[in-house]
Amino acid sequence: MTVITRFAPSPTGTLHVGNIRTALHNWLFARAKGGKFLLRIDDTDRERSQEHFVESIRADLGWLGLVPDAEERQSERFDRYEARFAELVASGRIYPAYETTQELDLKRKVLLGRGLPPVYDRAALALSDQDRATYEAEGKAPHWRFRLDHAAPIAWDDCVRGPQRFDPALLSDPVIRRADGSWLYLLPSVIDDVDMGVTHVVRGEDHVSNTATQLQMFEAMGAAPPSFAHEALLIGAEGKLSKRLGSLGVEHFREIGIEPQALVALLARIGTSDPVEPFADPAPLIASFDFGRFGRAPARFDEAELAALNARIVHQLPFAAVAERLPAGMGSQAWDAIRPNLSTVADAQDWWQVVEGPIAPAEVSAEDRVFLAEATTVAAQIDWATDPWPALTGALKEMTGRKGRALFLPLRLALTGREHGPDMAALLPLIGRDRALARLATD
Ligand code: GLU
Repeated sequence: MTVITRFAPSPTGTLHVGNIRTALHNWLFARAKGGKFLLRIDDTDRERSQEHFVESIRADLGWLGLVPDAEERQSERFDRYEARFAELVASGRIYPAYETTQELDLKRKVLLGRGLPPVYDRAALALSDQDRATYEAEGKAPHWRFRLDHAAPIAWDDCVRGPQRFDPALLSDPVIRRADGSWLYLLPSVIDDVDMGVTHVVRGEDHVSNTATQLQMFEAMGAAPPSFAHEALLIGAEGKLSKRLGSLGVEHFREIGIEPQALVALLARIGTSDPVEPFADPAPLIASFDFGRFGRAPARFDEAELAALNARIVHQLPFAAVAERLPAGMGSQAWDAIRPNLSTVADAQDWWQVVEGPIAPAEVSAEDRVFLAEATTVAAQIDWATDPWPALTGALKEMTGRKGRALFLPLRLALTGREHGPDMAALLPLIGRDRALARLATD
């Protein structure tokens, strides 16, 4: 069996971190099983779906490295839904209903008032042909419901949540089509999953009760249902469902210098029993991916953790991976020297400025001024072709008796204008003889 997963966003907005996580898990599972990962654009809602969101979804997945093996669009499949719908109407599994929203609200309120579950009473099933003809004559178009079979409990073994059981009598027959003919998501999704051979539906746990009704739709169409994995929701660092998470997308992460690998490494592991690790390559994440490691408690998304992970990933990135984002003239030797000090690739700009100058001259005490004058003399004499830093500091140590901080800090301050930074042995060759001499000569 070839595993086929799908990520099925509605193009009514850009992807947020929760969607990204779902897409990632679908991709990781497909890759782990040597299967296929589909992108299915759920664009049945023609008014709310927008082409620029489709494009941004594709671009975001591309940036993350989650490239789909194929793309499907629901808006190209209306004929197919129509045909399946007609079959299910003919077999009595889909029926027309005429209640208005107000009538349905009232029914719900009455039931809730009596302490009963607000399940649809199936009044529409009791309508006679004559009743329906009257409604139609009045110009009332029906919406359509899928008739659940109450005979046996609905059960499945969820890849994340384990055995699940629903009493269908406690579920309303779901509305699958509106009076204007437009589709709700439930039925087209099942038709697609059947036609596209989807073997695993991986989505958020907010869909668990949809799965109960959709399982009966698979059955009604004579199709074997896929496996389901419902992942626990994502919460913010403060431990709550947060509005902020709904607004955090690729654009924001790019803007603050987050690498796609950092987002992937974090979202692959939070909410699982595996540790978050700074993988710059997804191979180990694919190899270790297992729904059995997912917990049922919400996964906590902490932006500070993402930033720290990002730094650890930046430290591993080879020059070739970042070259086009570096300041002009900055080569691989400079990247290797500066990389360990970066939180984001964009920060390389600051250190490149330190190399190239000009830098703001540091405040120097009278005593250090004398020392730096000696350093200038020594720097003019050492061999700059190989390892100037040990040559400079070695000679100065001998001349002045200074060591440790007293030896290194004034040099670092004069040469870089800063107290901290990359390893001076790696930085000094980049600064080079001429600039170094000018910076050491403080008078
Ligand atoms: N378009 C649906 C959603 O975004 C898809 C759910 C599913 O994966 O089946 O909620």
